[in-house]
Amino acid sequence: MGDDDFIYWQDVLDEIAAGRRAQLRCPFCQTAGLAITEKGPGTTTRIECASCRHFIEGRFPIDPTAGGGPTSSGPIKGGGG
Ligand SMILES: [Zn+2]
Repeated sequence: MGDDDFIYWQDVLDEIAAGRRAQLRCPFCQTAGLAITEKGPGTTTRIECASCRHFIEGRFPIDPTAGGGPTSSGPIKGGGG
């Protein structure tokens, strides 16, 4: 995944952080309903489009109720297409 891809995902991450995960659309193919897999509290979250298979994986501030500061300090990876 290049830096350009992350720019696409940034809007999705913003929506998730705002608690609007129910209305997510793939930034690549515009398909609604991205799959969000949380592998555990404070660990990696994977967001994947079932249609075009683009995904991003990393530590995101995905739960607005969790409090705390930015958590996206871990490595972020993605791919698909
Ligand atoms: Zn897609």
